[in-house]
Amino acid sequence: AHLDRIRETEDDFGSFITVTDDLALTTAKDVDDRRARGEDLHALAGVPIALKDLVVTEGVRTTAASKILENWVPPYESTVHLKVKAAGLPVLGKTNLDEFAMGSTTEHSAFGTTRNPWNLDHVPGGSSGGAAAALAGFQAPLSVGTDTGGSVRQPAAFTGTVGVKPTYGSISRYGIIAMASSLDQVGPMGRSVADAAALHGLLAGHDPLDSTSLPDPVADFVSIAKNGSLKGKKLGVIKQLIGDGYEAGVTAAFTAALDVAAAAGAEIVEVDCPAISYALDAYYLIMPSEVSSNLARYDGMRYGLRVEPETGPVTAETVMSATRAAGFGAEVKRRIILGTYALSAGYYDAYYGSAQKIRTLVQRDFAKAFASADVLVSPTAPTTALRFGAESASDPMALYLGDVATLPANLAGIPGLSLPAGLSDGLPVGFQILAPAREDARMYAVAGPLE
Ligand code: GLN
Repeated sequence: AHLDRIRETEDDFGSFITVTDDLALTTAKDVDDRRARGEDLHALAGVPIALKDLVVTEGVRTTAASKILENWVPPYESTVHLKVKAAGLPVLGKTNLDEFAMGSTTEHSAFGTTRNPWNLDHVPGGSSGGAAAALAGFQAPLSVGTDTGGSVRQPAAFTGTVGVKPTYGSISRYGIIAMASSLDQVGPMGRSVADAAALHGLLAGHDPLDSTSLPDPVADFVSIAKNGSLKGKKLGVIKQLIGDGYEAGVTAAFTAALDVAAAAGAEIVEVDCPAISYALDAYYLIMPSEVSSNLARYDGMRYGLRVEPETGPVTAETVMSATRAAGFGAEVKRRIILGTYALSAGYYDAYYGSAQKIRTLVQRDFAKAFASADVLVSPTAPTTALRFGAESASDPMALYLGDVATLPANLAGIPGLSLPAGLSDGLPVGFQILAPAREDARMYAVAGPLE
């Protein structure tokens, strides 16, 4: 049924880069056989899923939405896909994204445009825009995204779905194509809190193949979401993430959600996180610095695209240069240049070093705020889904500003969840819940009853 739905709607939504019919049907058949034999199956066995095309899938083309990996078929498996396969979830395909996850609209893809199922004139958000549109368009009931500065939570907000950025290190990054390694985290996405919680439970857990993987046991997020209560819970509204710069319709929907929480017994308090005012600046130095280093591996020699120069000698350097010029899109090049500059001798202390200090201040602000609130809350994004054209990819600075509410969680390594909080002018608004690191369960205890 989901494959049929994809066939019927894909011309409109453009959620997928690759649809894997055969893989999905083979897995579904296998699960049926195992069920018929009376085998003990995972609760999600047989539930179809879509994977952002940044998740490495052995034997299935994985592109990162870049020309440089256009025909790359990975020879190894990511831990995420391994877990999905072992639990018997049929993989419907690989979803569209901004190239190497750099962007907020999914327009920076070398594989076409994804549209917001709520209104095809609007972007689905990004970078996990395909994963979010697949959910909102009922092409898939579950999907996997990645979140480096908001790429799961913001598209979830723009498409009226639920997106989770777990604590840094809680889901393995082994086989997730790297953008900025100290910020990247895999994110479960669904149409309800319980669905996202179930997928989170499947994907989380220690992985010796990821040196930043946490050893923590995985909580039962589904029952925590179902049995949670708002009574007596302190919700801390982050002063720096409301008011100026937020659309009136977004603020209205956010405030209405706070009223619902208060009516259910929650206590609403205000918290002050002054360093958040500098978080965006720090992110847009640290992230491109790590990008410039991570993307050095696309050299035209080891794998992916290889382009030889049209004239002159063919050397390692000229092949590298011709390959990267042809293979990377404009946004990726912009960030590599920014990052290389920030890391260069003479500027390192002024830019990268200062940004790391701000990162520490953001962490301290959060720690202080959590002393007076169980969870922190904010709108997920300052606007609803942007309209294609004038409002979107044309102005990189304006788009970077849209990440203001999501990227502090990545800088601090703490978990964040976005759930729908009604509509503004017919487009969904997201409500963000943040919890202390390794306390992901707390988000579900609030999100469950609030939903
Ligand atoms: N929009 C942010 C950026 O462009 C976040 C990207 C992400 O989380 N992958 O960097």
